[in-house]
Amino acid sequence: LQSKLPNVGTTIFSTMSQLALQHGAINLSQGFPDFDCPPELVDLVTEAMRTGLNQYAPSPGLLSLRQKISEKTQLLYGHTAQPETEITVTSGATEALFAAIAAVVQPGDEVVVLEPCYDSYVPAIELSGGIPVFVPLRFPDFSVDWQQVEEKLTPKTRLLIINSPHNPSGAVWQQSDLDALTRLTQKHPFLILSDEVYEHMVFDGQPHCSVLTVPELAQRAFVVSSFGKTYHTTGWKVGYCIAPALLTHEFRKVHQYLTFSTATPLQHAIAAYLDHQEHYLTLALFYQQKRDLFASLLASSKFELLPCAGTYFQLARYAQISDLSDVDISQWLTKEAGVAVIPVSVFNHDGLDQQVIRFCFAKKEETLRAAAERLCKL
Ligand code: PMP
Ligand code: GLN
Repeated sequence: LQSKLPNVGTTIFSTMSQLALQHGAINLSQGFPDFDCPPELVDLVTEAMRTGLNQYAPSPGLLSLRQKISEKTQLLYGHTAQPETEITVTSGATEALFAAIAAVVQPGDEVVVLEPCYDSYVPAIELSGGIPVFVPLRFPDFSVDWQQVEEKLTPKTRLLIINSPHNPSGAVWQQSDLDALTRLTQKHPFLILSDEVYEHMVFDGQPHCSVLTVPELAQRAFVVSSFGKTYHTTGWKVGYCIAPALLTHEFRKVHQYLTFSTATPLQHAIAAYLDHQEHYLTLALFYQQKRDLFASLLASSKFELLPCAGTYFQLARYAQISDLSDVDISQWLTKEAGVAVIPVSVFNHDGLDQQVIRFCFAKKEETLRAAAERLCKL
């Protein structure tokens, strides 16, 4: 059998979580909280199930949930997304990313990807016959070099994929990035896929620069988010995509045959819980405190932490500890030091190794303390 994805193996997230389990390491690798979601959410799911809300949801998602998403989007970004025609609930952001790419990328189309990038983008592009065109983010601040992006645009550029707050770096966009992108869209007709799953995790009082705040961008963008991140429910796999009606129309054709619909009781629960605005409005502070705690715990270690402006990931250099590759040090840290991490090079298509690792700090205080104790001994 000729593989359609010859370069794809098991994702680093599965690999490192498995290795952590095998070696009894504290798992700061795969991004997920080790604390539970709000108990009321679980009650709401149970209630929905007990009430018999256990059959297929409408393919685009429960209208009540789409209405709540629309209200949140209006409140936060001043953008009006029509629940009927512009919002689709998906089985995680992963499905939304895949469906958006499959909906618009034709064989031979070029898709500009800023690296390092989340690992699901490129396989989705390749399965659609698209050609990924890579633009490195600047190192070590992971800002976008807009000049380089512009140089990579051709008449074949169908899509630009962006991600702020950024996994794995924790970098966040500024208004100047939205302005630069807007200028490019005035000259080139590409579409935008904006991965905003960490939209509620931007720190130090900065705003989240959503493409939805700029009408010229919103009119050509798929904007993807995930309730897994927002409600500490990564295992529920509920996300959504906001896009203009024309794009949503094509998006839903793919979604309809990819999953058809997303778990009904989960949608009921999230729709009800979205009324608690304070949850997502205080999430940034919640994670900022974890970021600061983790940084203070590592202050006496030999790790050099890079700035973290958003997400629940902290990058670190380890040059004072070892000159191993980032893949090897990640294995070593997991097996020998008892803390599992993610090597950042795996987010680069060519494996470019800048000797930086990623910690996930979406963990209980006791977990962060226990991990830091091990890390400070190195
Ligand atoms: N995009 C990014 C940048 C992510 O970090 C994640 C979560 N790992 C996803 C998409 C996928 O989100 P979900 O779990 O909702 O599919
Ligand atoms: N987004 C998570 C991370 O970056 C992992 C998601 C997954 O395991 N597929 O760690």
